[in-house]
Amino acid sequence: NNNVKLHLDRNDELGELANAITSLSTDLDRLKNARNEFLASISHELRTPLTYIKGYADIASRPDTSDGEKQEYIAIIREETASLAELIRQLFELAQLDHHQFSIKKERLSVDMLFRTVAGLVRPAFDEKKISLSVQCDADVTAFIDPERFQQVLLNVLDNARKYSQEGTQVTIVGAQDEDKVMISVSDEGEGIPEKDIPYVFDRLYRVDKSRSRQHGGSGLGLAIAKEIVESHGGRIMLQSEPGIGTQVRIELERGDSIA
Ligand code: ADP
Repeated sequence: NNNVKLHLDRNDELGELANAITSLSTDLDRLKNARNEFLASISHELRTPLTYIKGYADIASRPDTSDGEKQEYIAIIREETASLAELIRQLFELAQLDHHQFSIKKERLSVDMLFRTVAGLVRPAFDEKKISLSVQCDADVTAFIDPERFQQVLLNVLDNARKYSQEGTQVTIVGAQDEDKVMISVSDEGEGIPEKDIPYVFDRLYRVDKSRSRQHGGSGLGLAIAKEIVESHGGRIMLQSEPGIGTQVRIELERGDSIA
């Protein structure tokens, strides 16, 4: 019967139109969310280098600081300013990730060298909190990764290890490899995360204890950013934790192309 068929076709078309409109508004929601998340990331990620800049500027301007020390602090402020500019560029790229315009520039890298660079950057903050930081990685461990982005991953994870640990504890970064995988782990002896919260820690804006996290300058984006970057490398990032014992973040990567 033609009439019935026509009726069904019209319904199908209306249905398709309704689906199209629904998915369009979902896309628009996603864009709106991406923009909001992007703005939140800016404030989160800019806070850390700004803290260093302000700290060193304060010390440099004390009357009892010698000229030699002043030069030293100014050099650090310049470096931090440069890394801040770099961070802003990276944050723009993070926003682009939501629009699939993310570019990663992979190169074959010594994991041990990467660890040492990052450890050098975070060490003042660790020393200040009397948390010892140890690096364990054979010199021949290499990964095919974007150096700047992976530096950001490690900075975010180490920043958490420091923030959520007490004085006198230890944080350990370990790098290892087999024929096809590179494994990176960051372990701390900090407060840990309750089991019920663990599935959500990589979600954007998720914080286990909001007041405590904010007190540490956290906005719940550090691990989300780390996850985006690791996954854009085809890798996996996982977290294990036990309250009162500590937390371990593990990253697994394919060793990738052009193994030296
Ligand atoms: P934040 O900026 O708040 O630290 P993250 O995305 O980096 O956000 O982490 C999400 C939440 O997971 C944190 O708010 C914190 O509650 C918890 N968390 C992350 N890493 C650790 C850790 N090493 N020890 C304890 N809690 C952690």
